[in-house]
Amino acid sequence: MKKVIVAGAGIWGCTLARRLAEAGREVLVLEKRPSIGGNARCAVDPETGVEIHLYGSHIFHTHDAAVWKFARRFTEFNGYQHKVLVKRGGKVYHLPLGLTLVNKFFGVELAPPDLEAFLTEERRAEIFDAFFRGYTGKQWGRPPESVDPSVIRRVPTRANYDTNYFNDLWQGIPADGYGRLFERLLDHPAISVECNRAFSLKNAAEFSGSVSDVFYSGPIDELFSYKFGALPWRSLRFETETIAVADFQGTSVVNYADAEVPFTRIHEFKHYHPEGRLKASGAVSEGRDWGWASGKTVVTREYPVQWRIGDEPYYPVNDGESARLFARYREEVAAVNGGFAADGMRLTVGGRLGGYRYFDMDQAMADALQTEIGTEGATRP
Ligand SMILES: Cc1cc2nc3c(=O)[nH]c(=O)nc-3n(C[C@H](O)[C@H](O)[C@H](O)COP(=O)(O)OP(=O)(O)OC[C@H]3O[C@@H](n4cnc5c(N)ncnc54)[C@H](O)[C@@H]3O)c2cc1C
Repeated sequence: MKKVIVAGAGIWGCTLARRLAEAGREVLVLEKRPSIGGNARCAVDPETGVEIHLYGSHIFHTHDAAVWKFARRFTEFNGYQHKVLVKRGGKVYHLPLGLTLVNKFFGVELAPPDLEAFLTEERRAEIFDAFFRGYTGKQWGRPPESVDPSVIRRVPTRANYDTNYFNDLWQGIPADGYGRLFERLLDHPAISVECNRAFSLKNAAEFSGSVSDVFYSGPIDELFSYKFGALPWRSLRFETETIAVADFQGTSVVNYADAEVPFTRIHEFKHYHPEGRLKASGAVSEGRDWGWASGKTVVTREYPVQWRIGDEPYYPVNDGESARLFARYREEVAAVNGGFAADGMRLTVGGRLGGYRYFDMDQAMADALQTEIGTEGATRP
């Protein structure tokens, strides 16, 4: 039976590899980087024991029952509930836009029924200027003045004191770390993994005759050597440091809304494992302390930067022009499939880089769970 190649070992590729293996296929996973996990990859810091999120904070959250069921086959979650604080003008507020933020900012004590009437156009504009204009300007590299105030109308409002950042039914951090989640996803006798090996159309010929399908989740424009030009992305630069204090900011993420502060956020990763604090204090005997016993902490400052070919792509810049460019690359995928058909091969391009879209992890997993995997020998579309 012919093999299947899964190119890219992020959450999309690992989910597909597992599905394919469980459907009876032999799977070869090729990953360009030295290790699996894609942008959700974390590493446990040997000095402190803190689990560092190497590509920015990643919290698993979903209300998709099929995704939650699938993910929990490979990990337990620790029950972490995400809160985001925002610092502005030297004061710290709770996001999202709800009673906690509004009451503190305007110095009032509103009850839930009062909020809607209180948030006049003028007050919404004040909130927008204070908390969103500078941040959005930094994030997308535009002068704060150019950020459209209509954005504020789309910022969801909560007429309550719920400061949980996500509206999802389920969330958490893998209880024994993201690394183990990815290892377990690929731990199947029919899956073999080769890291430091990139798939390209140039090396596709070597698989001819032995491979039926390629599922590729690298950048779609890179696959075609940027022949129509590069799809635009926003990139990030991370500055990480270990600090000799037990707790630096008292929470996992603080956004910095002031335009003068050059970074957008500070991540303090040990807060993603509140159970580690219980372990360090001796209140529980099981599990790891995730850095809480070290007396130190690890923080990362996040700086948005302009993306160029070769940089890590983070956020797609979705506009009419990039949509047209993406459509041209999709046509190329169809053309490749025309050529591959003679060899009985098929190319499927997906994931956040292949699909040129912002995907949360649960959406990437859901997409991989729904992607058509076909069967060996079946008629190709
Ligand atoms: C800053 C930031 C924070 C985020 N936080 C969250 C969060 O809190 N919660 C959440 O749910 N989601 C979050 N996300 C989204 C999350 O990162 C994505 O959902 C996830 O990475 C999508 O997985 P993927 O497999 O599609 O892509 P990736 O994780 O990017 O994996 C693609 C893989 O393909 C490999 N590859 C590329 N080219 C090739 C090639 N030619 N051959 C072989 N391999 C190749 C890459 O090295 C990579 O390992 C965040 C995203 C960003 C940018």
